[in-house]
Amino acid sequence: MSIKELLIAKAKEGKVLTHKCTKCHHLHLSNVYYCENCGSKGFENEILEGTGSVATYTIITVPPAGFEKYTPYAFVVLQLDNTNLRISGFMAGISTPSDLPVGTRAKIVGFDERGIILKKQ
Ligand SMILES: [Zn+2]
Repeated sequence: MSIKELLIAKAKEGKVLTHKCTKCHHLHLSNVYYCENCGSKGFENEILEGTGSVATYTIITVPPAGFEKYTPYAFVVLQLDNTNLRISGFMAGISTPSDLPVGTRAKIVGFDERGIILKKQ
């Protein structure tokens, strides 16, 4: 299974695949060659719960071609619980800022052609 397939499989379980430095335990979302914190080259997979709070988002009212069926939706940046990591994903049914105050609790619920799918908790 490739890293991308594993990432998708974990998202479908509501989880986030990260890469943990075996030396300093710094977490990375992307598959890096050197630890951003200490420069070490050793990593192991660390699976996190895909829960957190909404840090910021953009409401998509004019979607890319082929994505019209999803509107309105939001491109959301989620601050993951207990980490310094932020992931981005898509949330359905968001048409005005009052639908999604910053700080709203949310979680990963799946993965589709857009990417990671989020839902309010
Ligand atoms: Zn490190």
